[in-house]
Amino acid sequence: MGLQEYRKKRNFKKTPEPLTGRSSKKAPIFVVQEHWASHHHFDFRLEAFGTLKSWAVPKGPSTEVGDKRLAVEVEDHPIDYAKFKGKIPEGEYGAGTVEIWDKGVWTPPAKMRDAFENGHLEFELKGKKLKGKWLLQRTGSANGKKSNWLLIKRHDREKKSKVDLIFHHTKSKKKARKKTLGLKNYRRN
Ligand code: MN
Repeated sequence: MGLQEYRKKRNFKKTPEPLTGRSSKKAPIFVVQEHWASHHHFDFRLEAFGTLKSWAVPKGPSTEVGDKRLAVEVEDHPIDYAKFKGKIPEGEYGAGTVEIWDKGVWTPPAKMRDAFENGHLEFELKGKKLKGKWLLQRTGSANGKKSNWLLIKRHDREKKSKVDLIFHHTKSKKKARKKTLGLKNYRRN
C-alpha cells in the first residue's frame, strides 16, 4: 500500500498526472477512467485507506447481472487521480489519452479491511452510468504483485442502465485508433 510504486513509475516533470490528494470528507468516491494506452482499457478506482485502490479492466464494467470482467489489480493511485483527464506523453508510463468515463460515490462493505484482505469485496456504486451492486472477487493468491480479480455485476433493485455499453465499446475502439495515432505499439483488445 502507499504511493511509492505509483511515484516510482512516473516522471512528474513529464507527465501531467497528480502526485497527491486528500480523502473526500463525505462518502468515499469512485471513478472509472477510459484509457487509450498501448491497449485500450478502463481503470476502475475506489477510494479506500487514503488512496485510490485501482484495477485495469480491459473490457470495462458490465451492467448485466452475473457478467464477469477481468480486473487486474494495479498500484494505488493518489486521490486527485479521480479528477485527472488528459494526455500522458509518448514515452511515459501509460502513454495515451485518459478520459473520465464515470464517477460518483461508493458504499464499501462494513468490514472493508477484511474484505480487501480476503479478496471478496461487495459494494454499491452511485455514479451516472454505474448504479447498483457489484462484487470484486480475487481469483488468485494475494502474494503476487498484480492479482487478478473479477468484477461481477450483482442483483439489485436499480433499473437496468440505459447506457449501451456494448455500443460504447465498439465506438471506443474506433476512437481509440484515432486517439492513439502516432503512438507506437498500439494494439486493439
Ligand atoms: Mn490505465
